[in-house]
Amino acid sequence: MKLLRYGDEGQEKWGMLDSAGGIRTLEDALAQIGGEPVSLEWLAQLQKLDSAKLPLLKAAHRVGPCVPRPLNFVCVGLNYADHAAETGGRIPKEPILFLKSLSAFCGPYDDIVIPPGSRKTDWEVELGVVIGAKASHVSEAAALDYVAGYTVVNDVSERAYQTERAGQWDKGKGCDRFGPVGPYLVTKDEVPDPQALKLFCEVDGQMMQDGTTANMIFGVRRLVSYVSQFFTLYPGDIIATGTPAGVGMGKKPEPVFLRPGQSLRLGVQGLGEQRAKTIGG
Ligand code: ZN
Repeated sequence: MKLLRYGDEGQEKWGMLDSAGGIRTLEDALAQIGGEPVSLEWLAQLQKLDSAKLPLLKAAHRVGPCVPRPLNFVCVGLNYADHAAETGGRIPKEPILFLKSLSAFCGPYDDIVIPPGSRKTDWEVELGVVIGAKASHVSEAAALDYVAGYTVVNDVSERAYQTERAGQWDKGKGCDRFGPVGPYLVTKDEVPDPQALKLFCEVDGQMMQDGTTANMIFGVRRLVSYVSQFFTLYPGDIIATGTPAGVGMGKKPEPVFLRPGQSLRLGVQGLGEQRAKTIGG
């Protein structure tokens, strides 16, 4: 099942993708369904619906982030060995965690805003894990039982803010529109192995990142379990699991960064694609 949220920013409603790629509204269906959105129980009730019988949206709508604004937007740093190497970072002994500002959260086709004065805005395609049940101190063996599904995240990053302005990375990770999520929440029954997904990012049609989640240092099970030792995760929370090689800061002979007026296309196998333009802030 592929769920999405359509409508203007802050006014999004739930929809379901049908087999022909149309958006079916869940507005009426959800009036009959109880439970917390994105929880496993809630998803199980939606799975029983026949998308062909739900009303088809005729007009075009903006597609927003595939879940409501979460409580936790957790990111994992340097989780692919090739990316760690291109940034000059060491292979971490334990997962590196940071939190993305929730004001960065945005939709998969929303313009990416290059902050005023930024010279080093960069891209990072990532597999996003969406949590489906309250998770605190869960084991690796049980970790996937707490997962609702998967999505695409662009962990947009300003490298000067991240690494040249002292302290933690958060300054370079939380600018407005630095957190595109979606287009779909793809339930985990459609993703039998989250460690066997290709992922890519193109800028102006040029392939920049072309990787596979098979190369993660810490896999999804380990990450969900690990994060839950420190923060309680809730339905709708997101873990962005790190990015493969090919980011702008790692390009040779010179780093390459985003400018206003560029086009990004990025995706994860089976989870859909984001497309966004860059604009000046
Ligand atoms: Zn990242």
